[in-house]
Amino acid sequence: MATVTRFAPSPTGTLHVGNIRTALHNWLLARKGGGRFLLRIDDTDAARSREDYVEAIRADLAWLGLAPDGEERQSARTALYEREFARLVAAGRVYRCYETAQELELKRKIQLGRGLPPIYDRAALALGEADHEARAAAGEQPHWRFLLDRATPIEWDDGIRGPQHFDPGAMSDPVVRRADGSWLYMLPSVIDDVAMGVTQVLRGEDHVSNTAAQVQMFTALGAEPPAFAHEALLVGSEGKLSKRLGSLGVSAFREQGIEPEALVALLARLGTSQAVEAIADRGELVASFDLAAFGRAPARFDEAELHRLNAQIIHKLPFDRVAHLLPAGMDTAAWEAIRPNLAQIGEAADWWRVVTGPVAAPEFDEDTKEYLKKARMAAERLYWHDPDLQSGLWSMLTSILKTETGRKGKELFLPLRLALTGREHGPDMGALMPLIGREEVLARLA
Ligand code: GLU
Repeated sequence: MATVTRFAPSPTGTLHVGNIRTALHNWLLARKGGGRFLLRIDDTDAARSREDYVEAIRADLAWLGLAPDGEERQSARTALYEREFARLVAAGRVYRCYETAQELELKRKIQLGRGLPPIYDRAALALGEADHEARAAAGEQPHWRFLLDRATPIEWDDGIRGPQHFDPGAMSDPVVRRADGSWLYMLPSVIDDVAMGVTQVLRGEDHVSNTAAQVQMFTALGAEPPAFAHEALLVGSEGKLSKRLGSLGVSAFREQGIEPEALVALLARLGTSQAVEAIADRGELVASFDLAAFGRAPARFDEAELHRLNAQIIHKLPFDRVAHLLPAGMDTAAWEAIRPNLAQIGEAADWWRVVTGPVAAPEFDEDTKEYLKKARMAAERLYWHDPDLQSGLWSMLTSILKTETGRKGKELFLPLRLALTGREHGPDMGALMPLIGREEVLARLA
């Protein structure tokens, strides 16, 4: 059976780095299993869901290269939820309750005072049909709870956490539907996972207790629960759940010049026993993706590490992957000459201006001016037109000048670099010289 995974964000905000990580892992898992990665927009909360967030989520996934193989929206699936809900009503697996939040709070306090677990006491189960009618007549609407099967222990073999056991006797029957008829997250998610053929639910460990209840919901709906895996949460480099992580999303990364491949390479392996490496090839990340490598400890997200990885990735990216981000005129040779100097692709434009000119060289002293005059004469005599010698022009020039002037090291190289680029550091001159071209090299030396 091919793997079917889903990423199920609520469109109540933009994706942050933790969501992105979950999306990526679901994508990797689906690709590894030769299956499908689905996007499910969890927009049952009409008041908090927004269309611009839905669009932002799609755009972010596209930027990350995590295109879903299908998309569903919960708000369009309520007819299905009604049908499934009716089955649960008929089977007695959901029941009507009327307690207010204050009443529940009071019950909890009393239970805690007596040293009892603060779980719902199922008082509403004792209500008869006449009671419900009386409440309805009084204009009271019920909310609905899912009746946990307390006789059947809840167990699953978690893909990351290993064997899990929960005692349903120690859990509250979860509320699945509000008095106004709106849905809480738990049940529609299960109904959708069944209907969408999801085989693998991979999400954050903040959902473990939801899973415990949801396992029984699958069974109550006559379905086999999917495989579950819960990953440890992402924390900031200082080891705390940081506020910053909650606001770091695709737009912030783009502004910082982070390439999607860098973010993907980092998040694919952060929190696993596999080394984080500058892997720009998705296929390699897919092939090595392994839930068994995930640890239980929180994964530490370090922005400095992301920037380092970003530079390493950029130094490897082939021209065709970045061509659309480069200034017009830059070709493969220019990209390959310039990329080792980049921390961000945006900086390529600066170096390209160094190639195309004009460059501002500093004021040289008389001695250096003499030297550059010699350099110009030597440069004139180089084999500029032989394509095989292009990469050797710089070393030819400098070896001629070394012999002619006796200069070496910094004295030999720096005035040339300054005259040709206006800068003390930069890409390999051997690669830059043919890009700058004969006329311009001669003009700059002059
Ligand atoms: N909408 C839920 C969330 O954002 C989905 C959780 C799940 O993956 O089932 O947490």
